[in-house]
Amino acid sequence: MQTLEKLSNRLFYLPPYKKTDRPILAAVVGDNQTLLIDAGNSSSHAKLFKEQLASYHIFGDMVALTHWHWDHVFGLSEMDMSSITNFMTYDKIKELQELSWEDKKLDERVKAGIEIPFCADAIKLELGRKREITIPDPTIIFEKQIKLNLGGVTCIMEHVGGDHSTDSNLLYIPGKKRYFLVTASMQICTQKNGIIPLKK
Ligand SMILES: [Zn+2]
Repeated sequence: MQTLEKLSNRLFYLPPYKKTDRPILAAVVGDNQTLLIDAGNSSSHAKLFKEQLASYHIFGDMVALTHWHWDHVFGLSEMDMSSITNFMTYDKIKELQELSWEDKKLDERVKAGIEIPFCADAIKLELGRKREITIPDPTIIFEKQIKLNLGGVTCIMEHVGGDHSTDSNLLYIPGKKRYFLVTASMQICTQKNGIIPLKK
């Protein structure tokens, strides 16, 4: 089981878990609002994150989606809060909503070359046999950039694209320490402390 790590009073993250393709989940804690970063690859992943945050008396108000891949959005329903993403991620999520995640359909998509075998295996492992996935529509959609004032800390979310996924967003906190959250490439880094590699 992954354990929540505290980087500062403002920044927490749950480390990744390679076996079932769980990505990093992060939280930026403001005085008024807490922004979660990514919804996780399942209800149980999202639940684990929320429970561990709760042990620090931290509760998310909204969740930012770094990109559309299954492992970042399948926990969205369990998160049960407003979600923020760019228009490209929104469109891809609308496509995901139409898909079946049963073995047969997954295997067909792997065969057709439109699903990665590792992801299909990870989905089966993470979600077990009963696989009913509901991905709610993201609620706040931006074009290029959005600025979120969380109270005492501002987080900027910006569409940057890149090789991993063309819809990828970069999240960063401008300020003295300049925390950068490069979640699409699975890294959290700070300018002050250097890069903390958190590759999956
Ligand atoms: Zn991805």
